[in-house]
Amino acid sequence: MQKPTALVIGAGIGGIATAARLAKNGYDVTVLEKEATPGGRCNQIIREGHRFDIGPTLFLMPEIWEETFAALGERMSDHLQLKRIDPTYKVHFDDGLQLELTSNIGEMQTQLEKVEKTAFTGFLNYIAEGNRHYKMSLEKFVGRNFHTIFEYFSLGNLPLLFKLKALKKHYANTGRFFKDERLKAAFTFQNMYLGLSPYDAPATYSLLQYTELAEGVWYPVGGMYAAIQALVKIAEKLGVQFIYNAPVKKMKEERGRIKSVFIEDGREFLADLFVGNADLPYIYKELLPKNDEAKKLEKKLYTCSTIMFYWGVDKEYPQIAHHNVFLGGDYKASFDQIFNDHTLPEVPVGHLDARSEQDWEALVNRARGTVLTRLAKELGAEDLIEHIKFEIVYQPKVWKDRFNLEKGAAFGLSHNFWQVGYLRPQNRHKEYKNLYFTGASTHPGTGLPIVLLSARLTTERILKETGTISVQNMANALAQARTYRVSH
Ligand SMILES: Cc1cc2nc3c(=O)[nH]c(=O)nc-3n(C[C@H](O)[C@H](O)[C@H](O)COP(=O)(O)OP(=O)(O)OC[C@H]3O[C@@H](n4cnc5c(N)ncnc54)[C@H](O)[C@@H]3O)c2cc1C
Repeated sequence: MQKPTALVIGAGIGGIATAARLAKNGYDVTVLEKEATPGGRCNQIIREGHRFDIGPTLFLMPEIWEETFAALGERMSDHLQLKRIDPTYKVHFDDGLQLELTSNIGEMQTQLEKVEKTAFTGFLNYIAEGNRHYKMSLEKFVGRNFHTIFEYFSLGNLPLLFKLKALKKHYANTGRFFKDERLKAAFTFQNMYLGLSPYDAPATYSLLQYTELAEGVWYPVGGMYAAIQALVKIAEKLGVQFIYNAPVKKMKEERGRIKSVFIEDGREFLADLFVGNADLPYIYKELLPKNDEAKKLEKKLYTCSTIMFYWGVDKEYPQIAHHNVFLGGDYKASFDQIFNDHTLPEVPVGHLDARSEQDWEALVNRARGTVLTRLAKELGAEDLIEHIKFEIVYQPKVWKDRFNLEKGAAFGLSHNFWQVGYLRPQNRHKEYKNLYFTGASTHPGTGLPIVLLSARLTTERILKETGTISVQNMANALAQARTYRVSH
């Protein structure tokens, strides 16, 4: 019997994982990727003997990664050698205070009590709350599909929104645990990973601090890209065909379904179903024939962007550890500048905004100056500038041009209350019932493990709606789901 065919647009982690899951479930899968290599935002740069992770450097929530490998019939430990990173990072305040966030409880106590007498008790309570938020969110909201608004705002779910503090602001809620403004900052800036200001983010997101400190920050030997290489290898073993340098230009509709896609060189690819892994708002805006939804998406809230400096340096600076976070003096003003003015505070930056003038060259120069000054003053790297052999810069325009990220928003659509769960753009097109989405701007959201969940949820929806799951695979899926639940 001929296999059903699936075509995936984009070989980001979401596209790779969805392609592999579909292949495992009996699909003949082709992935079209515009770049020369897979990985998307989780790609790498190799130059003159230096290797850089372009985007992610924190390997979080290993149990979700493990579930992905298991669903593909593999063991993560056979493919990735993970090292725990502890302390996770050093936070530098502009008044000279430094905090090393670590899972070593004794160390945390000593550091926190130096800043505020009751801070250690506050910290334990804060992490306990983060633990509750993490477990509850994963089980009830993040790790499942919502097909109707009634499922989402069901009588069972409504009390959970309060338990998860979905309507409280994260920064304000942190005041219940710490009084010192610097401690509130140290335990909320992580919202930036979701591209959210802690002044707007729901208090639910204390789950991030819990996962980092309790479940751990990890790093694969060989770099984050080792994870992409491992997943691509498994996908290829399952029969997925990857075609690189193949930017999709248009999707063709026929009788209410997507029939094919055209790539830049004019070739047409037909399939039974399509999965968009490129940024969802971009697909609606640039690839789909009808555009009503694109206009609505344009008005949604987007995450911030970033300016990245990849420096090839010919000297070692052992005093600069793997992750350092430098917080600006006026914490609130910094976030206002990023999220309201869409410009540059001390480093993370707002996204592209057609309404305001943004001179990116000047902003990049200012960012470089600030970074070099703080590294010199606070970490003694005074001669760093003389030892930079080459520099590669990623700023919002690069994020947009290279990966087609709408507005250059590095983390995709934002994750405020109105843009999560059922309220986030769905992982299936409303009209074209054979067009699905996977990745950071659909449900559940951004971050590598969360995108891996997206791949699982999209695949589950496809298999449910097309009825293509084989008896054998259903048995496997059930067994895996059981293992997954037990591991929690
Ligand atoms: C600076 C930065 C730091 C981050 N740090 C972390 C971290 O430490 N930990 C973590 O877990 N997450 C982190 N993230 C988030 C994480 O990188 C993303 O959530 C995740 O990589 C998104 O994967 P994706 O598959 O949704 O999208 P993408 O990686 O964007 O993949 C989409 C793919 O589609 C391709 N594409 C686009 N248009 C077309 C087209 N027309 N035709 C064909 N192909 C197309 C793109 O080239 C790309 O390969 C970070 C992100 C950034 C930007």
